[in-house]
Amino acid sequence: SSSKIHSRKIESDASSETVVDSLSKGPAEGFPLLEKAKGYYWYPGDGARILDACGGAGVACIGHARRDVAQAAVSQMKAFSYVSYAHFKAMPVQEVSDWLIQSTEGEMQKVYLMCSGSEAVEAALKLSREYFIWKDEPQRVNFIGREESYHGTTIGSLSASGHVVRRGPFEPILGPQFHKISSCNPYRQRHPEEGDEAFSTRKAVELEEKFQQLGPDTVAAVIMEPVVGAALGCVPAVQGYLRAMKIVCEKYGALLIFDEVMCGMGRTGSLHAWQREMVVPDLQTIGKGFAGGYMPASALLVGAKVTELMKREDKAFTHGHTYQNHPVVAATALKVQKIIQEENLIANVEAAGRTLEQVLHKLLGNHPNVGDIRGRGLFWGIEFVRDKATKEPFDPALQMAHQVFRVAMRDFRVLVYHGQGCAGDGRGDHIMIMPAYNMPETSILDVAKRVTRAVEKV
Ligand code: PLP
Repeated sequence: SSSKIHSRKIESDASSETVVDSLSKGPAEGFPLLEKAKGYYWYPGDGARILDACGGAGVACIGHARRDVAQAAVSQMKAFSYVSYAHFKAMPVQEVSDWLIQSTEGEMQKVYLMCSGSEAVEAALKLSREYFIWKDEPQRVNFIGREESYHGTTIGSLSASGHVVRRGPFEPILGPQFHKISSCNPYRQRHPEEGDEAFSTRKAVELEEKFQQLGPDTVAAVIMEPVVGAALGCVPAVQGYLRAMKIVCEKYGALLIFDEVMCGMGRTGSLHAWQREMVVPDLQTIGKGFAGGYMPASALLVGAKVTELMKREDKAFTHGHTYQNHPVVAATALKVQKIIQEENLIANVEAAGRTLEQVLHKLLGNHPNVGDIRGRGLFWGIEFVRDKATKEPFDPALQMAHQVFRVAMRDFRVLVYHGQGCAGDGRGDHIMIMPAYNMPETSILDVAKRVTRAVEKV
């Protein structure tokens, strides 16, 4: 019956359209209803089947509608569905926290579970401030983030973000304490002949200058995504960059926050993105793939520098959401993580990621309007440009990435994520491909072919 209702809605909205046509609409026209998803496919109704190449915003990392995950959630709901973090610590919260700590080999020592990436970032900003209050350095009120970054939609996390388009309506945002340095975007910023080391050094010098300009002892924390997500479209920091940034933070006594909400939890081929080069942050945020979309789950992970002070001074973080440390969220996230572990899916991210990289380069590498193909693991971005040689972007009014998204969905039945350049000037107009970690290689190849046809058509 829901199928009938759904079909009627589509018919009444636009009688000549198929469900798939309607799927490429946006908020202004009214999103179509979704009935079902299973594995790597969305089923919007009327027999339409859309290959899921992005898991929403890089969330559905083990595919949709798994019974084993549903069972874990239900059995926790049956045991107890809610308890306040202020009264008890739910057993699954303890278990998933222990699991996370162990996954960092003890580098992270404390976990606060939340529901969204924005909340986790918000908590990281607050804990940074409180840490310095405990340390008797209350003047450390400044934060340094990066241009071309995204950290969330709440006012603090948005202030830390360099996403000009998303910040736009809210300017002046929480301005005075949030400062920016440039991102690490080799496609657009690397000088000819500049190697990774020289590029990283140049960026570290820029960070040092920012510390000097603000007064080194006024900075609480520096926040960055080790691999930039939706603001730029899957741009990994170059080798050595994260270490160079950490050295500067340590020199001036500021905390380093890695926002791994999008690039973490296996997405880029290591469970934690920082494990690739073993550059350990002081605070780390995770989200999205943590519970694979089966529950709204995120977390703030806290490293030794902060936890040791907390222990020594007997301090507790002044923080708390009603749904913090939610037992069903915890039980579900733990199940998703166990599946990733037991099915050896991170190794699959590496292997499938290499396949995806090769095939994208093969099919689209020479396309005159594909400026850059970049990423890591199963996290790939394709940036569109008007002129490949000069890297001149398209006029943002053309919304090229959005067009590719629409055509991919409507004509080639594959869902990709798209983002208009976050600077608002067309640079960074991209689509993102973020398949489930267990997507078979044949489907990975299928994704690449369908996306290529959509790009060619647009
Ligand atoms: N941080 C990063 C790197 C993100 O990509 C996002 C969301 O896309 C967020 C934070 C915010 O997470 P949420 O949308 O779950 O609040």
